[in-house]
Amino acid sequence: MQLIARSRTDISRLLAVMTGHWLIGVHSGRLGLPFNHYYRSCKDRRKEETVFHFLCECPALAVRKKTFLGRYMFSNLSELSESRIGDLLRYLTATGWI
Ligand SMILES: [Zn+2]
Repeated sequence: MQLIARSRTDISRLLAVMTGHWLIGVHSGRLGLPFNHYYRSCKDRRKEETVFHFLCECPALAVRKKTFLGRYMFSNLSELSESRIGDLLRYLTATGWI
């Protein structure tokens, strides 16, 4: 029900993040677009740019995660299932990533 009240843009952003079909990491490369093998926010070259890293473990985004999602880190994506859609959208906006 939370989705119905959202704009098409917000729904599109949420679906992109949930499915991994946006210009992040390897998916961007699959589309023939430039991409980074490492994560751009924390510059950790050992970390592949993934939705998991973006949502759960990036230390460069930890304060924003805490502010909007209530925790600095998540150990897996299922822990985000308790998050409110509005909070997730605010996090996405605050990161400037999508
Ligand atoms: Zn990172």
